Amino acid sequence: MAQSTVSTMLHRLETRHRITVSRIAVIGLVASMPGHFSVEDVLAQSRGIGRATVFRTLKLLVDEGLICRVLLEDGRLHYRVSHDTHHHHLVCKECGAVEDFTTCDLEGLIAGLSVRTGFDITSHWLEFYGLCRTCRETVPASRNAILTPS
Ligand SMILES: [Zn+2]
Ligand SMILES: [Zn+2]
Ligand SMILES: [Zn+2]
Repeated sequence: MAQSTVSTMLHRLETRHRITVSRIAVIGLVASMPGHFSVEDVLAQSRGIGRATVFRTLKLLVDEGLICRVLLEDGRLHYRVSHDTHHHHLVCKECGAVEDFTTCDLEGLIAGLSVRTGFDITSHWLEFYGLCRTCRETVPASRNAILTPS
């Protein structure tokens, strides 16, 4: 699984970008990360690779749509191997699971906003936070009670 992710990423990059040994190493680390990860997670394992190279390679992967950024509810920005089409995330506050959804129905809202504000809106970012299906069932009732007072 991780190896095929690496191959896919390299294949996508090699047509337009120089593939260096350091880039391959960073891509290998990215592909081995479970779920979502921070820049620090990559840096912690990137011995021998310059900090700037790690940052530049992550940016390249984001620009190419191979990884995406996830804004966690506490404000931390993480990365994640991505759908390369426009999508949004459901982020579980309990276990940290992230699910993508690719159906974005915001065209009406955006068109309306544009008319009302005079803004030419070119992009948007939207994350949803809550409890995933598993956590809804397993989070103790006492904590659920705090979340939804009767
Ligand atoms: Zn994503
Ligand atoms: Zn969860
Ligand atoms: Zn959208």
